[in-house]
Amino acid sequence: MERTLIIFKPDCIKRKLEGKVLDIFLSKGFNLKACKMMKLDMDILSRHYDHLKDMPFFPGIVDFMTSDNVMVLVFEAENAISKARELLGPTDSKKAEKGTIRGDFGTDMRMNVCHASDSVESAEREIANFFLPEEIF
Ligand code: ADP
Repeated sequence: MERTLIIFKPDCIKRKLEGKVLDIFLSKGFNLKACKMMKLDMDILSRHYDHLKDMPFFPGIVDFMTSDNVMVLVFEAENAISKARELLGPTDSKKAEKGTIRGDFGTDMRMNVCHASDSVESAEREIANFFLPEEIF
């Protein structure tokens, strides 16, 4: 079993898609282990997107990710990491196929509905950035 960190981004919350997206994960066999609503700030985002913080589009990501509340979740499933990335589709929603979360609900490269961890190491680091051990059930 693997764990992955999922974030329902501000576009997901603004458009009231959180129920739909949660249902997709649950119906595909993911078990919910932790969940909270948060307003992100620069500190937590800089740690989360450490690999992107020197990119020219990083300020745009910060603006977007702080533009509304987010929901942060931990899911557990067999091959949770690759399965969640498949469900999401590629980063650019315009290139994502219909039937994927980003293909069905995303707008573009930045407003792409959800984050999902891309490796076991990232998942462990990201989960620890958002949750205390006792908040995971
Ligand atoms: P993913 O979320 O698919 O793992 P990345 O880790 O590369 O993709 O990027 C993190 C997030 O940063 C993306 O989901 C997207 O919201 C934003 N982003 C990535 N690349 C760009 C870009 N070129 N322009 C604007 N936003 C971007």
